[in-house]
Amino acid sequence: MEGAGAAGRTRTAVGVTGAGGFVASWLVERLLASGRYVVHGTVRDPGDAKNAHLAAMDGAADRLRLFRADLLDYGSVAAAIAGCDGVFHVASPVPSTYPVGDPEATHLSSPFPLLPSFFPRLSHASVQSLLLQVELLAPAVKGTMNVLKACSEAKVKRVVVVSSVSAVMVNPGWPQDEVMDEACWSDVEFCRTTQNWYCLSKTLAELEAFDYAKRTGLDVVSVCPSLVIGPLLQSTVNASSSIIVDCLKGDHEVKLKLRNFVDVRDVADALLLVYETPEASGRYICDANARQVSDVIALLKNWHPAYNHATKFVQVSDEPLFSSKKLKALGWKFRTFEETLRDSVESFTAAGVLD
Ligand code: NAP
Repeated sequence: MEGAGAAGRTRTAVGVTGAGGFVASWLVERLLASGRYVVHGTVRDPGDAKNAHLAAMDGAADRLRLFRADLLDYGSVAAAIAGCDGVFHVASPVPSTYPVGDPEATHLSSPFPLLPSFFPRLSHASVQSLLLQVELLAPAVKGTMNVLKACSEAKVKRVVVVSSVSAVMVNPGWPQDEVMDEACWSDVEFCRTTQNWYCLSKTLAELEAFDYAKRTGLDVVSVCPSLVIGPLLQSTVNASSSIIVDCLKGDHEVKLKLRNFVDVRDVADALLLVYETPEASGRYICDANARQVSDVIALLKNWHPAYNHATKFVQVSDEPLFSSKKLKALGWKFRTFEETLRDSVESFTAAGVLD
């Protein structure tokens, strides 16, 4: 409980990890706009210009407190979560989607720049793969544990963990023609052998979160979004938005396949919905619209013929289909794909991303 607003309404404090990121920024915006919450947001560097949009949000001056925290530093995480009734654990490293071996594969800034010189016999691809393991797995898994432990210590009433359909869909044992629902989990060993480190990081983090909940009684609910696109609040282009930017700029090879999309504003609404609905429990797939990437490009060309558009393509396997029936049963609604795509491009244009 954190005091009363101007109208005498009692507000509770909620924590949001990685507050400056794409998804978390919209969640912070929604939490502040509701007027019901004081938000404790964690960022790794409060002074970084990429987090400046947070302080400019309506209500931020009175109701947003930013804390410097790294997921791997328990004390910093615990200091941010102290005094919170609820926590949204959103932060996790999200790499760009360029293949391992591509010099751009580590969109993540490496804390181990000397690693290649220690292993001169390893190929570039192997070094990239090692780096991705280190950079993804520890913050995702140990980071989630740190957040949950801090939540127990602070007697937080509910934790909403942002997972991903990446923790659902890498499952060769699931019947091919069956829509995937919350019962489907990515196969940890299969992720490992196929070096699918992002999917492994999200799967292990979510499994660990529910295991921790079972052991301690902490109320943990997870939300598993598909590819999140939509307008940017932050000034930098995050990995999932870059997939649409690539379709419009033509700088990178674009993967042609059936993809599942969801609007970032609808994800923020889903997070708030599962937090505020007492009977919510377990995992919730959060997916809105499946589209062939070729159809998305055709739509973009039709709307914006003047842009360069992608010219290099590679055909890959379609994604499976997902059911968000469980989330819809809580009252979740989502936008049309056309609205999401139109608003994404409008926001990229306004931010000068397509220049
Ligand atoms: P994003 O904009 O890159 O945000 C990721 C956030 O995690 C950033 O705020 C980043 O902080 C923070 N972070 C990373 N490592 C950290 C560490 N060691 N300590 C503290 N903070 C750390 O990506 P996003 O798309 O919003 O993703 C947010 C969440 O949604 C992630 O859990 C992701 O797995 C999940 N998700 C995303 C999608 C999608 O398509 N975008 C789909 C499904 C699930 P810095 O700014 O300091 O780097």
